[in-house]
Amino acid sequence: MKPKNNETLLNFIDGDFAANQSGKTFDVFNPATGELLYVVEEADKHIREIAIDSAKRAFKLWSQRPAVERSRILLCAVSELRKRNNELARIECLDTGKPLQETTEVDVATGADVLEFFACLAPTQTGQQQSVGDDFYYTRKEPLGICAGIGAWNYPLQIACWKSAPALAAGNTMIFKPSEKTPRGATELAKVFIDAGVPPGVFNVVHGEAEVGAWLTGHKDIAKVSFTGEVGTGRKVMEGSASTLKDVTMELGGKSPLLVFDDADIEEAISGAMLGNFYSQGEVCTNCTRVYVHDAIYDTFLVRLKERTEQNIITGDPLDLSTNFGAMISKEHHDLVMGYIQKGKFEGAKLLTGGDSFSPDSAPKGYFIQPTVFIDCTDNMTICREEIFGPVMSVLRFYDEDEVIRRANDSAMGLAAGVMSKDIRRAHRVAQQLQAGICWINSYGTSPAEMPVGGFKMSGVGRENGIETLDQYTQTKSVYVGMIKLESPF
Ligand code: NDP
Repeated sequence: MKPKNNETLLNFIDGDFAANQSGKTFDVFNPATGELLYVVEEADKHIREIAIDSAKRAFKLWSQRPAVERSRILLCAVSELRKRNNELARIECLDTGKPLQETTEVDVATGADVLEFFACLAPTQTGQQQSVGDDFYYTRKEPLGICAGIGAWNYPLQIACWKSAPALAAGNTMIFKPSEKTPRGATELAKVFIDAGVPPGVFNVVHGEAEVGAWLTGHKDIAKVSFTGEVGTGRKVMEGSASTLKDVTMELGGKSPLLVFDDADIEEAISGAMLGNFYSQGEVCTNCTRVYVHDAIYDTFLVRLKERTEQNIITGDPLDLSTNFGAMISKEHHDLVMGYIQKGKFEGAKLLTGGDSFSPDSAPKGYFIQPTVFIDCTDNMTICREEIFGPVMSVLRFYDEDEVIRRANDSAMGLAAGVMSKDIRRAHRVAQQLQAGICWINSYGTSPAEMPVGGFKMSGVGRENGIETLDQYTQTKSVYVGMIKLESPF
């Protein structure tokens, strides 16, 4: 099969596209139409070698640049990203199947925001100095070297920005492997970096599947791996990284709870539940797929949730700006999510709405699934325990605060959580007891550059965004200075 425009996407190494020698390629499809979009060259032995060589050379140059200069260059990339917002948003829409309405507002903008944040922080990094008797020591924050970024398919450009921003700001170089389902976002970012004046080799993009990711995690010249993906893959990446004792950042999956108390603003709570289940057609790691609703408002909540889900969600061609709900990333993922829906039915959950795949008139061949709400769910159902990564909300009834906190925490994962309540003391008291890396109170899903994000328990290791993340891309060197004659017993 040939893509309509005969496009072949190459690996991006040392400031330019580079052809492989194996001739091996793979296909990328539009999830909303099932059409072949383009083919991509795999990173073979030759590409991998030149990627490492160029990142090594670039590290010598980039790490020596004054931080203020790195900052200035990265800020040019921020302007370039914002200038190209609509063009990049369209690329993300075609690759991921999510609505252009979203990618135009969020995907590129939140990537640019994080790059801006870390570019501004770069010159603020300092060491410390302390006298110790007659002598003294000082510390230097030094970059790690070549970092690897491995991304998931749900926010391709944004994930590439979130990983490269702190890495490059701190003086590292990065080799990034996007998901083979969505390889264009990271490639576009690489072009933006070059246009902005980032030296060739500072950000290389290699394409391929698991095997290319595994090569990166096991490579002796790579100092750190920042990974976004499933818990199971994260485990493999950690194992691979252990061979050379690499530093790792892991942004993994979740099964996050939303706690709706009886004093909550019901409409706002429904907004939170819908945002946290149906935005990006449910393909978001922090989704609050377990919605615990207090018994006193349970029935009213369900009536309005059903009305709003059935009336306000517009599914169809993601390129149409009125569409606010898109297609699943692939046929396989569509089938996986449908499998969970079948399991939910089989295990006795009741369908409030949705529960089927469907073909909108404007995109009849896409991998669409209806926004689905199961009610009267119990904690042990498969749909309440495993990450689905699709538009499937499970609603559970609760009676008191301690009970719901215990049930919310009864998960191996701990990425995010939400509390809906007008009682300020209760909201904070509950948030403090929830085992999650991110807790939203009367809000859901917003992730500004300033706020650290990452998971408790099996949802992750380390953080992205926020001031602390910059330190995770440096290592501290202590320099001890002897001021008096060195005495020795020898
Ligand atoms: P995967 O874990 O399947 O893949 C993630 C990336 O890892 C892809 O680039 C993949 O390559 C690569 N990969 C696969 N196997 C290996 C391996 N053995 N070694 C190194 N790399 C490998 O995740 P998905 O892409 O399916 O993304 C969905 C998952 O990501 C969900 O679990 C979701 O919760 C999580 N996620 C977490 C976020 C967070 O911030 N916590 C944010 C977004 C998503 P390829 O796909 O090309 O085979």
